[in-house]
Amino acid sequence: MIKIHLGLLAKQPVDLEGTEPAELLGVQPSSALTILSPLTYRLTARSVSNGALVEGEISYRIGGSCGRCLEEVEQTLRNAHLCLFYDNLPEEELDITDDVREEALLLLPMNLLCSPDCRGLCPQCGANLNQETCSCTSEPDQDSPWSALDQLQL
Ligand SMILES: [Zn+2]
Ligand SMILES: [Zn+2]
Repeated sequence: MIKIHLGLLAKQPVDLEGTEPAELLGVQPSSALTILSPLTYRLTARSVSNGALVEGEISYRIGGSCGRCLEEVEQTLRNAHLCLFYDNLPEEELDITDDVREEALLLLPMNLLCSPDCRGLCPQCGANLNQETCSCTSEPDQDSPWSALDQLQL
């Protein structure tokens, strides 16, 4: 739980540093995506005229298989400019755990890739096109029933 003691916050900015277990994120581990590290946070909360402002950084590591070439990938996800604002503060403690979790989940990629320009696998022979070039794309299959059609001048 990431909580801010509001009595203290009224007097001075409050630094919040630590980790939360990966299970906090509620992501079911799979071959496509697993959370590899705890969620690390380094935040500063300060009192502002109409509420409280929490700013700082969150990060964690994920792993899985690349959505195009299936290679194992590890990535650090980071939001270095987390910014949360709270008005309607409770009496004693402000629990920001849920909001930090939501911000952390926003960092998850829709499709994990080993690199943005991953070339993936050849759909015909399965070669990893990042590591080798296959001859599939350059030489059309002569036995294909379509190759005869290709030669017709339509
Ligand atoms: Zn890849
Ligand atoms: Zn190929």
